[in-house]
Amino acid sequence: MYRVDSPGRVNLIGEHTDYALGYVMPMAIDLYTVLHAQKNERVRVYSQIFREVKEFGLDEIRKASDWADYVRGIFWVLRENGHPIGGMKGILGGDLPIGSGLSSSASLELAVLAFLNEAYELNLPPIEMALLAQKAENEFVGVPCGILDQFAVVHGKEGHVIFLDTDTLEHEYIRFPKDVQALVFYTGVKRELAGSAYGERRNVAEETLRLLGRRTSKEVEESDLRSLPSLYRRFFGYIVRENRRVLEARDALRNGDIGTFGELMTVSHWDLARNYEVSSEELDFFVRKAIELGAYGAKLTGAGFGGSAVAIVPRDLALDIAMRITDEYIRHFNWEPDYHLVSPSDGVSVRRV
Ligand code: ADP
Ligand code: MG
Repeated sequence: MYRVDSPGRVNLIGEHTDYALGYVMPMAIDLYTVLHAQKNERVRVYSQIFREVKEFGLDEIRKASDWADYVRGIFWVLRENGHPIGGMKGILGGDLPIGSGLSSSASLELAVLAFLNEAYELNLPPIEMALLAQKAENEFVGVPCGILDQFAVVHGKEGHVIFLDTDTLEHEYIRFPKDVQALVFYTGVKRELAGSAYGERRNVAEETLRLLGRRTSKEVEESDLRSLPSLYRRFFGYIVRENRRVLEARDALRNGDIGTFGELMTVSHWDLARNYEVSSEELDFFVRKAIELGAYGAKLTGAGFGGSAVAIVPRDLALDIAMRITDEYIRHFNWEPDYHLVSPSDGVSVRRV
């Protein structure tokens, strides 16, 4: 039998830039989807979270609009690409929360893919695994995500964040200070708007590139946007500034300057809130409180519209900050949020047990 540990991820800066082929800076986190699995003729998977078994044969892979679509998607994409695989039986567990913006979807996809890669000796290189999982999520599940999530889940490295150019897929590992921890905070607010608003922004970004005749947001400056309609100017202006901030954040972290890194995160949050319009009252509340209580920086993470936020905090203050924000959040919103203290982790790994 095999055991796969597949991490979640949090993006520290570079939000909504991946679909415009810009820069991002995520890390894999030490919360995991854990898959115990072995080869089987059919596919039979139990999810401990859903307390449910799903079963299908390899010749009857169709979308069913349930959690197992992420599993089906991986079998679909491998067969689409001509990889010789059989089935599996397995149990999905672990401590990564689902649907909270920590990318349990990419984590699940890569848990299954990493198992199949090992068990059926596919010898897929890591980057190919990330691209296949993204294709499964885009084309089978139908979620138009960029490469950020799958890349971070595959390429994570303990103690490091990843600077990634989502256009060339060139990346650099940058040491994350040991005395700093990330506090991920789930607001408990469902991202109902997320699908349509994400799609709208993605369309605006793609349309802007087309109008300007550029391939990626890296080649665009704010002055290039002057002739565009005001919504395009505002949305794409955010993307241009965010790309620049990611480069500055990379330089700061290379120098171990966590103060500047944090400030860039917070500036990013308010730009996301004011100009990209993807924040919420709850996310803004978290960011304000985190800074007030001594965080180096804080911002929403993932698509926004509710969902999760992340702060980077001195390790010795992390618990106090987390608990105080939670108390105040409950008092203010009459709702219990969920939070996790996380550190940068290795990417997906498989071992025999
Ligand atoms: P996120 O990626 O932010 O966690 P998504 O909505 O993209 O949120 O993906 C969450 C979905 O992924 C869940 O609703 C479920 O369908 C699936 N999923 C993730 N992890 C598991 C798991 N351990 N067992 C079953 N389904 C899972
Ligand atoms: Mg997801």
